[in-house]
Amino acid sequence: MEKDLLKDQLIEYGTKLGFGIIRVTTCEPLKLWNYQRNIRKKQDPDSAYLWDNLKYDPKEIMPEARSIVVAIWAHTPYKSNFPKGIGRFSAYYREYPKGRQAAYRLGKFLEQAGYNTIVQPNLPAKEIAYRAGIGYFGKNALIHTQEYGSWISLHYILTDAPLTPDESMDRISDCGDCNLCMRTCPTSAIQREGQVIPSKCIRHHMLSSDFVPVDIREKMGSRMLGCDICQMVCPFNKKGILEAGLPSPEEMDLFNIKDILKEWSTGLKNRMNNMGELIGKNYARAQKILSMAVILAGNSKDKSYIPYLIPLLKHPHAPIRGHSAWAIGKIKADGFEDILNKALIQEKDNRVREEIDRALGY
Ligand code: SF4
Ligand code: SF4
Repeated sequence: MEKDLLKDQLIEYGTKLGFGIIRVTTCEPLKLWNYQRNIRKKQDPDSAYLWDNLKYDPKEIMPEARSIVVAIWAHTPYKSNFPKGIGRFSAYYREYPKGRQAAYRLGKFLEQAGYNTIVQPNLPAKEIAYRAGIGYFGKNALIHTQEYGSWISLHYILTDAPLTPDESMDRISDCGDCNLCMRTCPTSAIQREGQVIPSKCIRHHMLSSDFVPVDIREKMGSRMLGCDICQMVCPFNKKGILEAGLPSPEEMDLFNIKDILKEWSTGLKNRMNNMGELIGKNYARAQKILSMAVILAGNSKDKSYIPYLIPLLKHPHAPIRGHSAWAIGKIKADGFEDILNKALIQEKDNRVREEIDRALGY
C-alpha cells in the first residue's frame, strides 16, 4: 500500500476509535531524552531506575522499525472537590486504559496491512510526542497540546511500516514567563523548568507500596490517585477546567475511604476487581489503595475513622501499620496515646516503632 494512503487510513481509523490527534515520527535515537536522563539521574539518584528502563534508540527494541505512531487520547478533568469521605482520583486514570485498548486496535490495523508493531514499548513517551509535533513541553514536564492542553494520555506504536513523519515543534516550550505550575506545586517537586523530581512528586508516591515520607503524606490532602495541581493552574488547560465534572456515584463509591478501611480483612477483592475495570489492574492494588485510604483518613482529622484504623495497626504490611499509627496520631481522638502505646508493645519493626514514637510526640 502507498505509504501516505496507509497513513491517511490509519488516521481515519484512529479518529473513529476516539483518538484526538494522530501523528508520526521517525525512529532516530531520542537525543533530548538521553540528555534529560543524565540530568535527572544526577538530580534524583533514588529514582534513576525509572529512567534506565526507557530506551534511547527505538531500534534497540525493533531493529527493522521505521516509524513511531503517536496517538492522543484526550479527557476532561474532574473538579478538585470530591464529596467528603471519597478519595479524589484523576480522570486520567479512568481514561488511560481506554486509550491503551484503542492503541492495541490501531496496532492491529497496521498488522492487518502486513506490518509488525509493538504497542507502548519502553520509550520516553513525551519526547516521542514532542518530536511528532503533538505539543510543547510545559515547565511541569508534561506535553500540552493546542487542542486539549495537557489533559491527555500519550499512546504510541513502534512499527516497520514506512509512514511519512510529521514536523516536530519549532521550539521546546511555549510557557514564556509563566511559572504558575512551579509556584503552586505543594511539594516543590518542579525544581527546574521541565524537570519534576519523582521522589518529591505526590503522584510518584501514590504508586509505591513503601512508607510515604511524612511531608508528602500531609500534602496528599484527599487525593487517592493522581495530583492534578500543576495542570489545574496551567493557562493552556483552562478550557478543560471549565468543562470539569465529577465521576458517577458508582465510580466514586469505589474510592469511599471508610469502606476501604472496613474491608481490608477480605483483601478488598471485589472492590479491586471493580476498580481494576475502571482504572486498570496496575493501579487497583489492594495494598496501595489501602495505604492511601489510611493517609487520607489521617489528613481528614475525622474521629469517625479511628475504629477502622485501630485494627490496621496489626496489618501484615509494615507501611500500612506505620501510616495507621501516623493517622491515629494526627486525628488525636480521646485515648489515642493508649492505643498507640499498646501497639508499640507488640511492634517489632523498627520503622513502624519510629512512626508510633513520632505519633506519640516522642
Ligand atoms: S503532580 Fe503534584 S506534586 Fe507532582 S509536580 Fe505536579 S503539582 Fe507537584
Ligand atoms: S502553568 Fe505556566 S509554566 Fe506551567 S506548564 Fe502551564 S504555561 Fe507552562
